[in-house]
This record gives sequence, structure tokens and C-alpha cells, in this order.
Amino acid sequence: MRIAIIGAGLAGLTAAYELRENDVDVYEATDRIGGKLYTVPFEAGPTDMGAEAFLSRRTDAVEFISELGLKDSLVAPSGLGSLVYAGGRALPLPRGGVMGIPSTGQAVAHLVGAEAAARIDAESDAPGFTWEAGGDVSVGALVRARYGDEVVDVVVSALLGGVYSCSADDLGLRATLPQLAGELDRLAADGPVHLRDAVGNLEASRAELPTGQGSVFSTFREGYQELYEALAEKSGADIYVDAFISGISSSAAGYRLAGGEDKDYDRVILAVPAPTAALLLKQVAPEAASALSAVKLANSVVVGMRFATDAGLPNNSGVLVASGEQGVRAKAFTFSSRKWPHLAKRGGALVRASFGRFGDDVALRASEDDLVDWALDDLQTITGFDGRAAGLEEIYTQRWFGGLPRFDASHLATVEAVRGHLAGTAGIEVAGAWVGGVGVPDVIAGARRAAAEVLR
Ligand SMILES: Cc1cc2nc3c(=O)[nH]c(=O)nc-3n(C[C@H](O)[C@H](O)[C@H](O)COP(=O)(O)OP(=O)(O)OC[C@H]3O[C@@H](n4cnc5c(N)ncnc54)[C@H](O)[C@@H]3O)c2cc1C
Repeated sequence: MRIAIIGAGLAGLTAAYELRENDVDVYEATDRIGGKLYTVPFEAGPTDMGAEAFLSRRTDAVEFISELGLKDSLVAPSGLGSLVYAGGRALPLPRGGVMGIPSTGQAVAHLVGAEAAARIDAESDAPGFTWEAGGDVSVGALVRARYGDEVVDVVVSALLGGVYSCSADDLGLRATLPQLAGELDRLAADGPVHLRDAVGNLEASRAELPTGQGSVFSTFREGYQELYEALAEKSGADIYVDAFISGISSSAAGYRLAGGEDKDYDRVILAVPAPTAALLLKQVAPEAASALSAVKLANSVVVGMRFATDAGLPNNSGVLVASGEQGVRAKAFTFSSRKWPHLAKRGGALVRASFGRFGDDVALRASEDDLVDWALDDLQTITGFDGRAAGLEEIYTQRWFGGLPRFDASHLATVEAVRGHLAGTAGIEVAGAWVGGVGVPDVIAGARRAAAEVLR
């Protein structure tokens, strides 16, 4: 079977590996493979500028990585807690809850104040709300209605923004917090529901999980390059870089790619961001293309900085910045050398600053000098750590144009519609962050599914 895969990010390379028994060509528009996985050779050692961890509680992902022979490359974080910067102070990120949505006011009182905390507790005494099983709403709208604005702006948006580059108001509950949506579905069978009950039930079921099963997150000792290089090599596929595909057309013998090799393919997998997939599908699956145009992307920027000393850097894994915090441009800092013991061993301090949320492109347009200045200024404002005095030894600035798809309240319906339309187009499959979730385990699982489906 001759198979073309468009996009050599995690999804495309995973699919290529899964299809290694076939004649596979992978086309990548840029000059390197990996997409949003990108390990940069700092002098002190390989350093990730895109994804920097994954949820290793997802055993399917760990098994897949083990199958690639990379199990021994996985390393665990230090377990140090994170901070939230709100109201000009960096305070501990509450543990428990669901992505910052608490079941008690006490859990977040130190961040939102006593009055807002009391409002959270009072939710149980207010009338419940009607929840339609299978329904959806934006995370922000739900939590604002039940708990008030403070917890959304200070905690929930900061946490979700770290994962999705979007505020809670731009994200759908079912797409981003499916367990919470599922628990509301379950509770709704008995009538009106309370958010505190749903969150509390999830906390209780989490507490029942067996402990001692290793850390929740992991990463690769030498960075994500270990994963994308292994996938590329073990796939045996022909990988064409600097190969921008601008269209797909049907031919008598299958599909042809504009910008690809002069040959026909029996099958095609699109492993590209949604807007690109929409353009590429225009000719062969116009309805799918039109449904896909609803998916918007959030831009972001990562500034990686290495300092000669870590003296004065807080003993935490990082800090998230509350929405609307005045005088600070960054949305988060990861204190990588505190978070990851294998990076701490290099000496000095490694810090990643992140900028940009959906709809806020200021950082994307800023000059590199400005971005580094903002990163250093904000780091000092938030933590007191003076990066200039600490000796800035290495810097890398990475702009992520369209870094992540926006998983709004209509996203799942859009994906279902695209899938429905594609069902009538034999031999074409889609994979990638917008299809089944942005997390590395989700992308791997989705690409494996697409590889299996495309052979049917
Ligand atoms: C800054 C950042 C931090 C992140 N951190 C984490 C994390 O810590 N943990 C986690 O689990 N996830 C994280 N993620 C999410 C995760 O990295 C991504 O969801 C995942 O890597 C996306 O993989 P993909 O293959 O779907 O897409 P991509 O990586 O975007 O790959 C798509 C590829 O297609 C190529 N392409 C596009 N158009 C064309 C064309 N016309 N022709 C040919 N090629 C084309 C692109 O150049 C790209 O290489 C992060 C994402 C970002 C942006």
C-alpha cells in the first residue's frame, strides 16, 4: 500500500511508525521534523522549546514509548509544587480540585479572598442547575455562574491557559475536562446538580486510586528529540522536509499531492493543524473542509533562558500568572531546573517563560529583544530572581504560530462533523492535536487510531 502522510509532527511520525509495513512517504513543510516537539541543543544540554512533559499516568503512551525502546529514557519530575501569581503575590497553587475548580472555598481562599471563598461554599445551598446529559458549556461560563469570577480569573484560566493557551471562557467543558462533564451527566440523572458535588466526587474517586504507581508526569532525559527521532528512524518511511503540500486531488489511481513526489497514493493521512487540513481537503472533501474552518488556533511564544546560578530562584516547579494581572506580560514560567532533577544536575538555572493566550498576539509580534527583556523583568517582578545579575548564559526564543487549537464548546461537534463527512471519502484520515486532544498521549493514541483506520 502506498501511503502519504502530510506533516512530520508527533501525529504524522506516529502514524508513519504504525504503518511501517507499507510504502510510506512523509511530507513536512519546514526544514525539520517534530512539529511542536522541538529540542534545541543548548551548550548545557538538549532543551525542549515546545512540549516539555507528558501525562505518564496514561499507560498506553508509556507502553508505546517502551515499544520504541525508550522506556529507560523517561525521567520523573521533582514533585515540587507550583505557584500562582495573583494580586502581586506568588502563592501556592491549590492541590486537588479539577484544573483549579475547587470543591471547597478553603482550597483557594488564599488566592481569591474570604468573600469569594464563602461564595464557593455557598454553592451547595443555592438551587442546583439543570444539566442536560451530553450537553456542553464553556468552562468559564459554568464556573463563573456557580462560584463567581475570581476563581476563574485567578486560578482556572491560569491553569487551563498553561495547557491550551486559552482562557477558561474560550474552552469547552466536555473537550477539556471530560471527566467533569461526565460526572455532571451522571448526577443530572437525579435532577438539578451542584458543581461542588461533581468536583468533590471526582476528588473522592481520585483519592481511591492506588498510590505508588510512579509519577503523574514524565519527560525524556535528552528531550523530546529522543521520541521524534526514534519514530522517524523506526518508521523506515521516506521523509521529505521543506516539502509544503498545497493540495490533494483524486487521480485514476488514488490521490496526488501538489508539492509531493510525482506518484499516486492509495491512502493519505493529514497530520497537520486544522486550518491547513481544511485547505488541503477542499478538493477531495469540501464539506469536511468547510466544517473544519471553524477551528481557530492560539499562538504562543516560549523563551528559554539559562543562568549561571540558581540562587534566589524559588524552590517550586514554576509559576502561573492570573488573568488580567497588571504589569506582567508572561502567562507562566517553568523553573525547569527545579522541576526536573536531570536538568538540575547541569548546574545553574534553566527557566522557560511562556507568553500568549488566544486572541492576544502581542508577544507574537514583539521583537526578540523585547521578549527577553519582558521575560527577565517579569521573572524578577514575580519571584525577585534577578536574571541579569544571575548571569544569562544562553537564550532561545521560539514563536509558535498556531501553537494549539482552541477547544471551545463547539469543538467536539466540529470534529464529529468532519469525521462524518470524511467517512464518505475513502482512503483519507486525519490525525493530530485538533482531532483527539492536545496532550502528547492523546496525539499518539489518535495517530495510531488513524493509522489503523486508513488501512480498512
Ligand atoms: C509551547 C507548547 C508547549 C506544549 N507543552 C506540552 C506538554 O508539556 N505536554 C503535552 O502533552 N503537550 C504539550 N503541548 C502540545 C503538544 O506538543 C502538541 O499537541 C503536539 O505536539 C501536536 O502534534 P501534531 O502532530 O498534532 O501537530 P504539529 O506538531 O503541529 O505537527 C504538524 C506538522 O505539520 C507540518 N505542516 C503543516 N502544514 C503543512 C503542509 N501544508 N505540508 C506539509 N507539512 C505541513 C508542520 O510544519 C508540523 O511539523 C505543547 C504545545 C505547545 C505549542
